[in-house]
Amino acid sequence: MSAPVSTVAVVGAGPAGTRAAEVLVRAGLRPVVLDEAPDNGGRIFQRPPPGFTRPYEALYGSVAPQARALHAAFDGLRGRVDYRPSTLAWHLRPGTLHTLSDGQAGQVDFAQAILCTGAMDRVVPLPGWTRPGVTTLGGAQIALKTQGCAIGRRVAFLGTGPLLWLVAMQYAKAGATVAAVLDTTPLATKARQAPALLAGGRAFLTGLRMMAWPRLHGVKVVEGATPLEITGTDGVDGLRYRGGGREHVLACDAVAMGWGLKPETQLADLAGVPFDFDLVQRLHLPRRNDAGRTPVVGIYLAGDGARIGGAELAELQGARAAWSVVEDRGLPLDLPEIARLDRAIAAQAGFRRALDLAFPYPHALAAEMPDATTLCRCEAVTAGELRAAAAPHDLNRAKALTRLGMGRCQGRVCGPPGAEVLAAALGCEVSEVGRLRGQWPVKPVPLSMAAE
Ligand SMILES: Cc1cc2nc3c(=O)[nH]c(=O)nc-3n(C[C@H](O)[C@H](O)[C@H](O)COP(=O)(O)OP(=O)(O)OC[C@H]3O[C@@H](n4cnc5c(N)ncnc54)[C@H](O)[C@@H]3O)c2cc1C
Repeated sequence: MSAPVSTVAVVGAGPAGTRAAEVLVRAGLRPVVLDEAPDNGGRIFQRPPPGFTRPYEALYGSVAPQARALHAAFDGLRGRVDYRPSTLAWHLRPGTLHTLSDGQAGQVDFAQAILCTGAMDRVVPLPGWTRPGVTTLGGAQIALKTQGCAIGRRVAFLGTGPLLWLVAMQYAKAGATVAAVLDTTPLATKARQAPALLAGGRAFLTGLRMMAWPRLHGVKVVEGATPLEITGTDGVDGLRYRGGGREHVLACDAVAMGWGLKPETQLADLAGVPFDFDLVQRLHLPRRNDAGRTPVVGIYLAGDGARIGGAELAELQGARAAWSVVEDRGLPLDLPEIARLDRAIAAQAGFRRALDLAFPYPHALAAEMPDATTLCRCEAVTAGELRAAAAPHDLNRAKALTRLGMGRCQGRVCGPPGAEVLAAALGCEVSEVGRLRGQWPVKPVPLSMAAE
């Protein structure tokens, strides 16, 4: 099913995509909204499958009112947008999105596209991370949110960032046994950002509550932990780590791990949007201005898909990017509303930066992973193999030599830690080894689809 070329396409029906569609409809447009998920809501406000009876408060906790409001906003758009759920945009060429929906190939021809593709977990591979029983924090949360089950009987939570503490708390509240919360960031690093974090107001208080919760409920907490190995024979039986100057073994049968999030930038990359290296997030991020415009005419970015900012910011940016589309089409604008959005977006900048600094990606841990560690699990490439091939100063050349990043995930998981390993082996800055170029299909599709 194609669409007229005057179409505005919105990829992603999460907080950013929903608010973008809302503005476009208000301006008299009928956007195509597509999402690979079977329903709207995005990651944080993912709707449960039909028949699921857990109430909003149990599913979304303190953000239940925001979830309800976003779902209601989307429901109010039904019939006024061309909504295509379960539709993956797997390739973007100038003016065209190639899609896969229920096994059927399709395309959406667009004049403008707002990419609201969200984020995914960021990991640091460590010995044993490919064992059954190890998932990302997001994966563990999805099991709880959409299936009502835990990933194990005694789950260790490892990583850093707000999601670490949130998912551990959600598991404990749902009745699962949390073996421990191991945060790789020392308490002092977080404490240093406290004055700037105060600007977050309600979000800061929610974060403090989340971090206090395990301690108040007798859950073991280690900050400044260094994970060494996830042990086991068939699955997981423990997590070896260093903390307080000593080595410990934590008994557990599952590990949920994650070090913050990383934007899903593949479509922006295929669209030709230039990327810049961000020193704090240690990632290459697509270039766009505060109004959501990129240097590529007709391509707009909003939400976590451009830079991690959280759901509230994603909603604001989605609406703002849509107003840019409206303006670029020469349609009437609501200038006071645009000014309000600009102020609200600018007001979050300090808090977001402090959050990035409070929970840094542990790049030394990635750079120093043992040679035998599987770095790219799709293609079974070890850190040692990448180091042995470390003659080129370029991650893409190293990919050609080792197959790192050539598998199903297209380097979305192994790319950033691979860059750290390569840069350390070469003795250069991580920004100098570049990033894995986006390739289509951005996610696996049947071979027949790519042949069309
Ligand atoms: C796994 C996970 C769990 C999270 N849990 C929490 C939480 O509990 N609390 C919290 O505050 N924050 C959480 N976050 C962060 C939060 O989800 C985001 O800050 C917020 O949802 C950003 O909104 P968004 O609209 O930018 O992106 P998202 O909500 O991620 O929405 C993006 C949407 O785009 C769709 N999409 C992406 N690529 C394509 C494509 N190629 N084709 C079609 N559709 C596509 C996705 O299916 C998704 O529905 C989580 C993030 C992740 C990745």
